[in-house]
Amino acid sequence: MRIILFGPPGSGKGTQAKLLSDRYGVLHISTGDLLREAVANRTELGQKAKEYLDGGDLVPDSIMVGLIREVLGSDRARNGFILDGFPRTVAQANDLDRLFEEMGIRLDRVISLRVEHDEIIRRLTYRLTCKQCRSVFSEAQLPSGDDTRCPSCGGTLYHRKDDTPETARHRLEVYLKDTKPLKDFYRQTDRFTQIDGMKKIDEVQRLIEDIVGVPPSAS
Ligand code: AMP
Repeated sequence: MRIILFGPPGSGKGTQAKLLSDRYGVLHISTGDLLREAVANRTELGQKAKEYLDGGDLVPDSIMVGLIREVLGSDRARNGFILDGFPRTVAQANDLDRLFEEMGIRLDRVISLRVEHDEIIRRLTYRLTCKQCRSVFSEAQLPSGDDTRCPSCGGTLYHRKDDTPETARHRLEVYLKDTKPLKDFYRQTDRFTQIDGMKKIDEVQRLIEDIVGVPPSAS
């Protein structure tokens, strides 16, 4: 399985990528997670990326392409991958095509999750992320209290710095300006499918499985 999950912030890419990665045993590549990890570890990459992440702006293409080249070239990506959050610009998509060609990789599908704008802002604003397993939850789903733990792993939940209403709105604008044009880029290929990301998590999961096929062990 070699797929790209595409969509605005808060469309459920991360949640669905995690489910798919567990079920199909392929690598989940979240460029946002990789960047946040680099920031937390204060690496050179993290120092370069921090201000972009905090402000909800895109990290420059040159930095991103270097990062993705390294991950796709690693052994962990050999059995397949789900790209979540990359590419985010037409330049990144062109570079990715070149990388695929160079590495002899064939992309299976680009699955786009469509979610209404109001819902995006609502989801991002109420989103809590687990520091440990990186699952995300809506505050409304969880019991109230300051020390609510992650229902999946018991880890600490936190509000991402870029999940404030202002930064969420800015991220949506960035998506509309720089990332949405990619839909046309991939629509021109025969590998693009759009699905309704407004549906419940398990329904979206089923729609994706209809496209990629159920894993051999589950059929
Ligand atoms: P995400 O976790 O996917 O919402 O990404 C969080 C932040 O990481 C984004 O707002 C950007 O600052 C940065 N980022 C993640 N992926 C990319 C990318 N492909 N290109 C540029 N910036 C990115």
